[in-house]
Amino acid sequence: MSTAAAGVVSGQTGTRWIPVIGLEVHCQLDTRTKLFCGCEYSFGAEPNTITCPVCTAQPGALPVLNSAALEYAVRAALALNADVAPVSKFDRKNYFYCDLPKGYQISQFDLPYCTGGGIQLASGKFIRLTRIHMEEDAGKAIHDRGDATLVDLNRAGVPLIESVTEADMCSADEAHEYLTALKEIFQYIGVSDCDMEKGSLRCDVNVSVHPEGEPWRTKVEVKNLNSFRNVRASIQYEIARQIEAYETGDPAQYPEQETRLFDVAAGVTRTMRSKEDAHDYRYFPDPDLPLVTVDAVLIERQRGLLPELPVARRARYESELGLSAYDAGVMTAARDVADFFETVVRVGGDPKAAANWIANDVLRALSDPDVAASSILELLVKPNDLAELIALVGDGTVSKNAGREVLDEMLRSGARAKDVVQAMGLEQVQDTSQIDEWCRAALAGREATVADVRAGNLKAIGALMGPVMQASKGSADPQLVRAALLRIIGEEG
Ligand SMILES: [Zn+2]
Repeated sequence: MSTAAAGVVSGQTGTRWIPVIGLEVHCQLDTRTKLFCGCEYSFGAEPNTITCPVCTAQPGALPVLNSAALEYAVRAALALNADVAPVSKFDRKNYFYCDLPKGYQISQFDLPYCTGGGIQLASGKFIRLTRIHMEEDAGKAIHDRGDATLVDLNRAGVPLIESVTEADMCSADEAHEYLTALKEIFQYIGVSDCDMEKGSLRCDVNVSVHPEGEPWRTKVEVKNLNSFRNVRASIQYEIARQIEAYETGDPAQYPEQETRLFDVAAGVTRTMRSKEDAHDYRYFPDPDLPLVTVDAVLIERQRGLLPELPVARRARYESELGLSAYDAGVMTAARDVADFFETVVRVGGDPKAAANWIANDVLRALSDPDVAASSILELLVKPNDLAELIALVGDGTVSKNAGREVLDEMLRSGARAKDVVQAMGLEQVQDTSQIDEWCRAALAGREATVADVRAGNLKAIGALMGPVMQASKGSADPQLVRAALLRIIGEEG
């Protein structure tokens, strides 16, 4: 099987297959309290310690909508250029499971708070959103304790928004790009940390394939994907599986409409439930909750809170600051990094140098246990400090290599660049008479190498640079050393 033009997959029989992919993304909102009660959720807390009569569904407890969750949801809709409904409704989605004490989940069915909008991919293709709705999260069932299933209701009632796309994507790459962009936007606007490891972003994919030019065929849903890698792998697997099934020519083997789960270890999807036992949720309006109204004041207040979004920033970094597309992508992938970068530039740091230092050295430091910072904002090196270091390397006061040593020390101690350079004696020697002296000393006794250089082998100069740098304890400016060596060898020739 091979992939030819965008999206088209050639099967064993030579048929050209078109994959059709849609995504449903659940995203936890970072509000202080849950969607309908005052419980303050935090990931990783002792099980069943963040609960109350409302989120454990005690008789008589009544839900009250958290206004902050509505505000976050509206901000997310605006960032995706979607339409916010002036009036929407909460419904009960009825099903029975141990992590859902009410026996229903409060969600939105026929009147979601948001419709339309979407995300443009780098290719220019626009992925349309069908809708976004608000709902509460369920608790967590834990099945890995022998025969027992344990239930943790801390997560029950945490606010979610579910973004549903049209089936506009035709490859795992497009789905991956869409999901990456969606995550970046939600992080930038501050509505969610979108941390898939903590389950604050979860993805279901719908996949079908059909021969080019023919109608769409049966779609299969793969649920509960919790990493970008698994989203990609499960889509690739489903495309291959479905094409292979159709190409047997035996209708009994054709894909059925069903829900599947991705087995990460085996790299395959497996049937979770088929159409016959699909849920009939019997949605009906929640009688405990009034209609949700959103007025122009709320919308404009949230619009005012939207920052410049990643796509716009990338374009500006390329056009105004001269960054390459790659560097602009690295600088904007997370908002805190982009803000850090912009501050370095604003206080005078050269943009290209700043992008290099951040991409190669500063971000790497985040994985260094000695540095002990989990985000760029926690580093002891602040944008001012990095700008100062960039200037010291830029004007030749210290070499780039010495600059790295300086940065290491700054990251560990929080000292300022100038102080570290002085304390470590890393200032480059630019005094030419001193450099000449080291060069003459290095040339003595190395006549063969000198002759080599004179014969036109400029690479041999490298063998002379080493002793000079050694004599200067690494402090000589290498460019000046090279120039001095060439000049002295020339003069003496
Ligand atoms: Zn509660």
